[in-house]
Amino acid sequence: MTALNETHSPDLISWVDSANEPGTDFPIQNLPFAIFRRRESSELFRGGVAIGDQVVDLVKAKETGLFSDLALSGIEACGGNSLNAYMALGKEWWSALRLRLSQLLRNEITEEIKGALVECLVPQDQIEFSLPCTIGDYTDFYTSIHHATTVGSLFRPDNPLLPNYKWVPIGYHGRASSIVVSGVNFPRPIGQTKLPDADAPTLGPAKRLDYELELGVYMGVGNNLGTPIDLDSAEDHAFGVSLLNDWSARDIQAWEYQPLGPFLSKNFISSVSPWIVTMEALAPFRAQWTRDSDDPQPLAYLDSDSLRDSGAIDIKLEVYLETEKMRETSSPAVRLAESNFVQSYWTLSQMIAHHTLTGCNLRTGDFLGTGTQSGASEGETGSMLELSSGGKKPFTLPNGEQRTFLADGDKVILKGWCSGNSARRIGFGEVSGAVIS
Ligand code: MN
Repeated sequence: MTALNETHSPDLISWVDSANEPGTDFPIQNLPFAIFRRRESSELFRGGVAIGDQVVDLVKAKETGLFSDLALSGIEACGGNSLNAYMALGKEWWSALRLRLSQLLRNEITEEIKGALVECLVPQDQIEFSLPCTIGDYTDFYTSIHHATTVGSLFRPDNPLLPNYKWVPIGYHGRASSIVVSGVNFPRPIGQTKLPDADAPTLGPAKRLDYELELGVYMGVGNNLGTPIDLDSAEDHAFGVSLLNDWSARDIQAWEYQPLGPFLSKNFISSVSPWIVTMEALAPFRAQWTRDSDDPQPLAYLDSDSLRDSGAIDIKLEVYLETEKMRETSSPAVRLAESNFVQSYWTLSQMIAHHTLTGCNLRTGDFLGTGTQSGASEGETGSMLELSSGGKKPFTLPNGEQRTFLADGDKVILKGWCSGNSARRIGFGEVSGAVIS
């Protein structure tokens, strides 16, 4: 785990005023990475780091001559239209560039340096994003025991939690080509579905379209085929975390999922937030990881002192829904649920250690979804499947509209942030998308 250092100090103030607003997602303690350009321009996409309501253009910043050594080779690797080259460098480079950016954006820097850097800022309300990196492979896990139990009870009332759940960080290999950055709207997918009492399936638009409230971890440094990553080194390979909405067609899923798992029900689109919050930025929000004494304790390759000490991460998560009617009446999106990744049954390091146990090689840019993050309580449901008890109980929105699953025009917005531990609050921004008819 990354130790706390001067970049995490809650006392740091930036000369970019908006970074000092209490509610900002992007104070100087965060410094997440994205790939951006000015909206509707013909500029090349390039690396940027968020500060307040601005983004530091890393191509321009490099040209100021204010970077040297590892920070220089780091920022040079951020000039292309994906962050893969930078993510492949490793922790020393990530730390060096973070420290240098932190120093240069602090209030006490000289007027001359501020003058040079202010030329490198672009307002975030003038930019558009592309995916932060080329994602080679995407794996989705199933780390919330609350989600697994509730969903299991809908699909298999007699046998909700399968016997492997408490031993294996369950996952499936997903589809990387249909991962998109926040803001992409998409048509309702078509598929085969079969009602329980029907003789044969029918073809048509999915009726049970859903979102999944997830986080994803981007791999930085990969491992060689045949060489597993051990639990305590796992996070040295991880670059950072973003929000993930793993859109799902439940009626397609219910018909197709046995025996090989989700296929078309999950492959039509998955949306990620544009910013990658680095593992180093998350250091102040680490939490103890525990396994209930009534549950089986993990096998040795999934357990360690350092995992127990600080393997979990306190990341607050929220889902908002904005319907067509809300847009027409200028009503704000409504919050459907809140949850927290700290409740996850398996950690990021356990996901990585388990994924590579066989010698499977993870590569720079590979993306590992956590699975839907539902909590133990009502109001902590990370999907509509859970909110509507499998479509059996419609729920009513504040404006009187009812839902069991997503209707055409519905926009889903996921948000996440970390606070507490006497640290400065940092946020993930958001990921949004809408289903269009
Ligand atoms: Mn999922």
